Amino acid sequence: MAEELIKLGFEYLVISDHSKAAAYAGGLTEERITEQHKYIDSLNKKFHPFKIFKSIECDILGDGTLDYDNAVLSSFDLVITSIHSNLDMDEDKAMMRLMGAINNPYTIILGHMTGRLLLTRKGYPIDHKAIIDACAKNNVVIEINAAPKRLDIDWRWIDYAIEKGLMLSINPDAHSLEEFEYIKYGTLVAQKGALPTSRNLSSYSLREFENFLAETKKKKGIL
Ligand SMILES: [Zn+2]
Repeated sequence: MAEELIKLGFEYLVISDHSKAAAYAGGLTEERITEQHKYIDSLNKKFHPFKIFKSIECDILGDGTLDYDNAVLSSFDLVITSIHSNLDMDEDKAMMRLMGAINNPYTIILGHMTGRLLLTRKGYPIDHKAIIDACAKNNVVIEINAAPKRLDIDWRWIDYAIEKGLMLSINPDAHSLEEFEYIKYGTLVAQKGALPTSRNLSSYSLREFENFLAETKKKKGIL
């Protein structure tokens, strides 16, 4: 994936496997995370100045806690948190889980906020304003999941997120080289929501992205 992005002219890659609760999707155990981090270190030497960031798409569990303890969470450059299980919830339950993740200082990006799959599955019901307000308060970036079946956060909420001072990030959710193309759909969603470049984390250069991570972690008290 790094080689493909270097070819395409990108400066960095945020590699975010699933976490251990998502065993059905190859979610990483703590041991495999350690192995992966070593491998990323060696690739970063090989591909320098291109950089691979150590990330994880960490499951938000049924009680709103995250799928690893803090020692493991602190080993990543950044953590994306998402809900993948028990999607059939009422709004109270969905909000409890999402708020648990947003209030956890290790959450840098909130992934596919409603869990919707277009033409297949409605998202679980959430109070968008309350979620966006909480993300603003806790310095959490909201993902624009660019996979065409997701496009989640819905573009109609982008202007409210901008108004509240949030950063968003166009993430392809790529599970294969071909799926890097999804970036274009996320970009169209962002343009439809009039997202300026300055509020799009995924438009940041390598240097800007590193600085953003450092500053955000400082604000959240995890650096
Ligand atoms: Zn996901």
